[in-house]
Amino acid sequence: MRATVLYGAGDVRVENVPDARLIEPTDALVAVSRACICGSDLWPYKLMQPGEPPRRMGHEAIGVVEAVGSGVHTLKVGDVVVMPFAYSDGTCAFCHEGLHTSCVHGGFFGTVELPGAQAESLRIPLADGTLFVLPVGADEALMASLLTLSDVMGTGHHAARAAKVGRGRTAAVIGDGAVGLCAVIAARRLGAEQIIMMGHHPDRIALAREFGTTDVVSERGEEAVQRVRALTGGVGVHSVLECVGTEEAMRTAIGIARAGGAIGRVGVPHYEAIPGSEPAFYNNLAIGGGPAPVRAYIQELLPDVLDGRIEPGRVFDRVIGLDEVTDGYRAMNDREAIKVMVKP
Ligand SMILES: [Zn+2]
Repeated sequence: MRATVLYGAGDVRVENVPDARLIEPTDALVAVSRACICGSDLWPYKLMQPGEPPRRMGHEAIGVVEAVGSGVHTLKVGDVVVMPFAYSDGTCAFCHEGLHTSCVHGGFFGTVELPGAQAESLRIPLADGTLFVLPVGADEALMASLLTLSDVMGTGHHAARAAKVGRGRTAAVIGDGAVGLCAVIAARRLGAEQIIMMGHHPDRIALAREFGTTDVVSERGEEAVQRVRALTGGVGVHSVLECVGTEEAMRTAIGIARAGGAIGRVGVPHYEAIPGSEPAFYNNLAIGGGPAPVRAYIQELLPDVLDGRIEPGRVFDRVIGLDEVTDGYRAMNDREAIKVMVKP
């Protein structure tokens, strides 16, 4: 079968690899009908070091169950399923608490340990706990939005939850990538009254406005902090949804949070220590977030997607075949595409 392999910085290839197959009785095999390239795939694409082992990329997909192991009880061949970016057993204490990304038997797709979803087919460990069966046929028009339940919509929602977005509160979203745009949807859905998008790509900002952004701040650093303060009566926002993962983004987040406010960070951090310890302390800020337990959120978000109340699938602005994946990475890295859908 064909699959995407990252060999080094800037060196991503689509190759013939051995077919995915069932290994454990709790596995399912999924034929991938739609996958994505993620903003977080761009980190290793840019920074992979010589000597690191090759990685089979991709952690977002919708597909059709092709085979199930003898220990799989809730899935059958032919089911249309969405996969969260992490696998989980659905039965441990953390899964019961809705924190599937901390599952004691869980792990992540698209790592050195487990092949990823930018491929024709994919082995899903702990399939009963991991996969979510969608109540739709395979050619449904809602597929783009359903696909975002794999990661970006659930991750944006997690940022909003961790930032304690609520009715009538003010929010700022740092980052105008697909997660940031979904964070705008999530903030609006949870009732934020003012939503400030911090980003500077015109096409993304236009979409952010359609999703519910009320104000846009395109400055960076201290200037951006001053602009947000000016937009909020000098006090800052209740909720900051940090969807980038850089030290500068976190510094900005702490700078624009109102005293007593909360920061939800979902951008994978590429810095050692959280900056701004002193202002965070004196302003009584809550800093939360992490890898989103998207498996827990599918149930909550699905009805809104099915009814068309939210349309996160609009973040996809390019659809490619598997053999064009190399160019898909380039397009996302060059900010030419917001988010790329891959149809193997
Ligand atoms: Zn678990």
